[in-house]
Amino acid sequence: MLDEIIATNLKHYRSERCWSLGQAALETSVSKAMLGQIERRESSPTIATLWKIAKGFKLPLTAFIEPQCAVDHSLLGKQIAFDNALRFKVLFSFDPLLCSEMFAHQLAPGVEHLSNAHQQGVIEDIIVISGELEIFDQGGWHPLKSGETLRFNADQPHGYRNLSAKETIFHNIIHYPKKSYQ
Ligand code: MN
Repeated sequence: MLDEIIATNLKHYRSERCWSLGQAALETSVSKAMLGQIERRESSPTIATLWKIAKGFKLPLTAFIEPQCAVDHSLLGKQIAFDNALRFKVLFSFDPLLCSEMFAHQLAPGVEHLSNAHQQGVIEDIIVISGELEIFDQGGWHPLKSGETLRFNADQPHGYRNLSAKETIFHNIIHYPKKSYQ
């Protein structure tokens, strides 16, 4: 179901912008072949690829993982899995007034997830709900325990990892710069 939603959204936003696959490839740095495969549901994008697409289209991540209009089968509150390692739920979809979206992430023991820079000006808030988490920011890993928080600039490479033997749950608020979305 997720692949279908992503395919529909990608086609929708690409046609809205009148972008050919080649133009979309230029804007997102994702190959034309890969974009075509995603649209035809021949390939499941990784979360890294989806972020590149969101960045190129100057759209929030949830614009691609939530259905356009079918509210009855929204993914809100349902678990989404990427690359068998990163699992999350959408807690709040992107709100154009607040310019933010919020996720609950689950990281299994030993899982490390590195992310490319998001759109310029994006800030992430991390709230650890349970377990232990480390955030890679500004060239170093910062340990966080249950109840601890961190705010960092996510328009540079960053990462999330759980080196403990227990699952980690954390909330993640993504703030997009207001001028880009209003
Ligand atoms: Mn991120």
